[in-house]
Order: sequence, then structure tokens, then C-alpha cells
Amino acid sequence: MRIKHWDNFTFIAGYHLLLIMLIPAFVAHFEWSALVLCFVTFMLGGFAITAGYHRLFSHRTYKASPFFESLNLFFATFAVEASALQWSHDHRLHHNHVDTDKDPYNIHRGLFYAHIGWLFTHQVPFNDRIVQDLKKNPRVMFQYKHMVVLSLISNGLVFAIGCLFMHPIASLFGGLLLRVFLIHHCTWFINSLAHVWGSKTYAKELSAVDNGILAFLTFGEGYHNYHHAMANDYRNGIRWYHFDPTKWLLWICSKIGLVYDLRRVHKVRLQKLLVSKDRELLLERFKSELDEKTIELRKRAEELAHTFEETASLILKKIRELKDTTDAKRKMLKHEIRELKRELRIQWKAWIELTQFAVRNYHFAHAH
Ligand SMILES: [Zn+2]
Ligand SMILES: [Zn+2]
Repeated sequence: MRIKHWDNFTFIAGYHLLLIMLIPAFVAHFEWSALVLCFVTFMLGGFAITAGYHRLFSHRTYKASPFFESLNLFFATFAVEASALQWSHDHRLHHNHVDTDKDPYNIHRGLFYAHIGWLFTHQVPFNDRIVQDLKKNPRVMFQYKHMVVLSLISNGLVFAIGCLFMHPIASLFGGLLLRVFLIHHCTWFINSLAHVWGSKTYAKELSAVDNGILAFLTFGEGYHNYHHAMANDYRNGIRWYHFDPTKWLLWICSKIGLVYDLRRVHKVRLQKLLVSKDRELLLERFKSELDEKTIELRKRAEELAHTFEETASLILKKIRELKDTTDAKRKMLKHEIRELKRELRIQWKAWIELTQFAVRNYHFAHAH
């Protein structure tokens, strides 16, 4: 590994070293309040990265008031992870070119590279076109221009506040070093482990995976396979029981008017995607089997998938129509949608039965 970014390397290696060296001193001056300070700033910096840098600035999955944007941009300095502009630039590249050479944290170059190595070696000229929308945002640009000063102010403030009621070593260790260490590695887990360790449901062709444990460590970002399949959804964990505190926070913020227009992928669209992906997988698997039973199953799979996709498309079309319809027609449309959804539920059940039968009776290399 040839280091090209000595600034990143010096900073990251330096604070890791300092953190280790200060452990005995921290133990000697241990105070619970240092861990509280660590936790509070970890939460503020972590949410600023997931809700702000990731779901707002990189993916535009919702709209936010200038106040909410400013808060995020300020608290993100607790994470010490580049400016929103640079972060979003790299992250958009990651989504556009995932698993290829153009992916800044390409997992195929190894777990260490995707986790941290890319920060020291990755060198791609900044492409303005990727973040044109963000360059028009004065708050993003202010943070971009004054990132170093803002980081020094915010982190200096935390340290100073800590010193008011604990030993400076405890404040430095808990309020700064440990917090930066935790936020960094939790963010980096998404680029490394969330492309290796977990299950694939929505985009089986990509390296990204869903993992509940990682979601716990990353404010809900661990449902990464879904996220790569549907990056314009403000949620990463789409089930109510999925641990996605960023989604919950944004939902609450939308109720008090701080954010609005939360974008979510309709359940029917999602099912349609799943059916079409599973269909490809089934047909690929059946290709080499020429016995009568398989040919029959293949035919049935094609028919079922086709009918399902037709019904789903019709529902989505009618939902779109619903948006600009007069009251009189509205009632009728809603009734039609209800009826179609009933049909779709039956077709979905038949499809699930068929895929389960196929998985039980045929060997699937990619099935999970
Ligand atoms: Zn993303
Ligand atoms: Zn990813």
C-alpha cells in the first residue's frame, strides 16, 4: 500500500496512537462523566453523518429546513470525516460504480482497503458535476470552506466544557479521542463489513448486505443491501422492527416541521422488484434442467411473474393518478386500487409458494 494522503494517515494513525498511549492516564483519572460526554457527542456526530451527510446530502431522500441543515453540518464536525461536499462526492461515486475500480471504497480490493486503506491511497480528481446541487447550497459551501476552523471550534468547545467538570485527560480521552475513534470505525464498517457480512434480499448482484448487528452500531445503516437497491428511500431498515434510529429521528423531525417530503419506496414497487429479481434467478437456474417437471415449473414461474408485474404496475399507475384526481373519481380509483391489491396479495402468495418449492427442490448457489 503506497500512501498518497499523508495528512489523513498522520491524523488517523496519530490519534489511534495517542488513544492507546493515554489509556493508563485515563484509567488513573477515570470519571463516568467522560463516558457521558463521549456518548452525547458520539450520538450528535453519528446522527449528523447518517441523517445529514448520508440520507440528506448524498441521497436527497428528504428535504430539510435551513436550520436542520445547519445543525447537521455543525454536529458533523464531531465526526471529523471531511466536509459534506467531499463526503457526498465520494459516496455518490460509491453508489454509481459499486464493486468496480471507480468505487472509492471498492470491497473487491479487500476488507482493510474498504474500511480504512482507501483514505490513505485513493486519489481521484474532484468531479464538480457529481455534486452540482450541493455546490448551490450556501450552508454546505460554508462548511466546506471553513471545515478545519469549524472542527477546531466544535471539538475545542467539547474539550473546554469537559474540563469544567473533569480532569483534562478524561475530557481529552472521552470527549474527543474515544468518540472520534468510535464514529470513524462505525462509519467505516458500512464500507467494509456491510459489503461482506450479512444477507442479500433486494440486490443479489451487489456486494452490499443487510445486517442487523451492523445496523445497531451504525444508527440503522446496516440494512445496506436494501439501501443500495433503493437509495432514494429515507429508510434503510424498512420493517417496523428493523433497528433504524435515523429513520425514527427523521420521522419525528418531520412531525415537528424540521424536515419534510420523506421519500419512501412503495411496498408494491418493492415486491415488484423482488419478483423480477427472483424470476431472473429461477430462470437462470432452470436453464440447464430439461426434464418435463422443470419445464412446467419454468412456464409457471414466467406466467406468475408476468401477471404479478402487470398487476403491480397497474396499482402503481393508479396510485399516481390518485394524486391529481377530482373528488368524484377519487372514490372509484381507491376502490379499484383496493381490489387490485387483493388480487396482488393472492398472486404474491402463489409466487412465494413457487419460489419456496424451487429452493427446496433445486440447488441455488445464490439463495440464502
Ligand atoms: Zn448510500
Ligand atoms: Zn455501500
